[in-house]
Amino acid sequence: TYTLGPKIANWDAERRAWLQSNPEFPSLVRGKPRVLLVTGSPPKPCDNPIGDHYLLKAIKNKIDYCRLHGIEIVYNLAHLDMELAGYWAKLPLIRKLMLSHPEVEWIWWMDSDAMFTDMVFEIPLAKYDKHNLVIHGYPDLLFDQKSWIALNTGSFLFRNCQWSLDLLDVWAPMGPKGPIREEAGKILTANLKGRPAFEADDQSALIYLLLSQKDQWMEKVFVENSYYLHGYWAGLVDRYEEMIEKYHPGLGDERWPFVTHFVGCKPCGSYGDYPVERCLSSMERAFNFADNQVLKLYGFRHRGLLSPKIKRIRNETATPLESVDQFDIRRHPMQGS
Ligand code: UDP
Ligand code: MN
Repeated sequence: TYTLGPKIANWDAERRAWLQSNPEFPSLVRGKPRVLLVTGSPPKPCDNPIGDHYLLKAIKNKIDYCRLHGIEIVYNLAHLDMELAGYWAKLPLIRKLMLSHPEVEWIWWMDSDAMFTDMVFEIPLAKYDKHNLVIHGYPDLLFDQKSWIALNTGSFLFRNCQWSLDLLDVWAPMGPKGPIREEAGKILTANLKGRPAFEADDQSALIYLLLSQKDQWMEKVFVENSYYLHGYWAGLVDRYEEMIEKYHPGLGDERWPFVTHFVGCKPCGSYGDYPVERCLSSMERAFNFADNQVLKLYGFRHRGLLSPKIKRIRNETATPLESVDQFDIRRHPMQGS
């Protein structure tokens, strides 16, 4: 069967030794585990040129969040392995980054079509001390329903460790483009509730793997749903005004979603489950909703959630550090709205 590369068997010890001999690259920075956010998009321009503009907005959004929270970021435009083109491309990329950045403790994959909509919320990493994979989902949908949407692979974290390399190894074999991916798709559709007939995708393959080898893997998997590590856009984007009225950033849940993910929208490609216009205007709203939280420090906000134009929200001042004290969400998270 297909493999991601030479079998690596002793990564935990090798990485530990490397960290010891390279103290200038600590895996903990100011007491926090080092996190690398990884995202990317296909090597070629979008079929629909407006799609490239939204890819730009989506990466700007991620850069803003990562700057505010001291997270490093990688944007990948290449197919490291042609057999795993498309949504499977994240697997060889995550593995390569783990092995090339032993200083990184957590690799956080985020789809290009997901945006941060809570610029204040931080992942409670301490909660995952005993886990190696953190993914949004619902245990009952997973184990009782065997639903193909029980977990979402649009935003998840992998610890840089042997366990994760092993999981990637058993996850990848359904991925190779062509007959393997086609045949595997039939198995997934036959076994997962609600799954339409199509080639194997990384999300269904992970769900199927965790269902069929539950005892081997689940102890180290944290299925998170106390906040939106992934949040399905359709139920969120029309409620932003209501959220602004009632709540404030930093909550991360349905009151102020951490991530809004445009599942089923394909503004870069040509086919999708929703009308392109609805997707684009919803992405525009999510982007501006988030951008307002960033612009506040600088004294601006968007004229409306659908407007790329901004307006001043306070006068220029001769004492700028007072604004820093008041509006810098790195130090005063609860005032970020
Ligand atoms: N992706 C990539 N290279 C590709 C295709 C996809 O990096 O050639 C990434 C991209 O970030 C995308 C994610 O993989 O958001 C999931 O791919 P999918 O085709 O499922 O797109 P989505 O459902 O997110 O639109
Ligand atoms: Mn996606």
